[in-house]
Amino acid sequence: MKPVVFIGAGPGAADLITLRGAQRLASAEVVLFDALTDPALRELAPQARWIDVGKRGFCNSTGQLAINALLVRHARSGRAVVRLKGGDPSVFGRLEEELQALAAAGVGAEVVPGVTAAIAAAAATQRPLTRRGTGRSVSLTTAMTQSGDLQATRTADTEVFYMAGRQLAALGRRLQQAAWPADTPVLVVSRAGWPDQLQSDHRVGSLAEAALLHAGRPTVVTVGVGAAPLEQAPKRESATAPGLARREPRMQP
Ligand code: SAH
Repeated sequence: MKPVVFIGAGPGAADLITLRGAQRLASAEVVLFDALTDPALRELAPQARWIDVGKRGFCNSTGQLAINALLVRHARSGRAVVRLKGGDPSVFGRLEEELQALAAAGVGAEVVPGVTAAIAAAAATQRPLTRRGTGRSVSLTTAMTQSGDLQATRTADTEVFYMAGRQLAALGRRLQQAAWPADTPVLVVSRAGWPDQLQSDHRVGSLAEAALLHAGRPTVVTVGVGAAPLEQAPKRESATAPGLARREPRMQP
């Protein structure tokens, strides 16, 4: 039995997959893929049988069990199986369940990383998630609990919330309860990495205003230091050595 290869497809455009991911796809015979991955990725594996196992939001356990069973069945058939996931497989990708199912069936696995939505949003908006001196930690957080409640936390200088797009107003309230000041910058990016990506700037206290713009689209919400636009850097003095004249941007969290 060949090991199942988990591949992170990245957040959108097919060319954001890694070279290794593209190479593994090219030799796949069966690809189990999620709804959020770009259809253009199919061109990287036209020879394979593509099976849509995508789901939005929390899937019920039967759905996940069915995916686990499919993975095992196709791996046991001796074919080269790829499990293609949006973003990075290790970030809110139910990877642990699928790895466990394969291990229990005696099937090996390999994981090829991908660009997760938080990173894609930071790149596309040119808002670095870390900032020297002020933004020393980043947290990738889901606002959704398994019971469907919304939770917000303040555990890092920059906190990126996944799976909160449908409840931005509630997230704003929860963020304030979690001790984020009302004037903290918030960057909302939906369909990051796609040609129709949207981004908007808000404050924790007025996050509800973002709901309409991003409705129905996969959305990440960046809160804190990494959400702030960059300050305009002052022009460099020509006589000064590079680096010395650069002023560190000061972000107010
Ligand atoms: N493994 C994925 C995350 C899957 S959970 C990753 O690493 O990106 C699904 C959540 O990811 C969505 O609810 C949304 O919050 C976020 N997401 C996925 N793709 C996105 C995109 N292109 N733009 C913004 N958010 C996205």
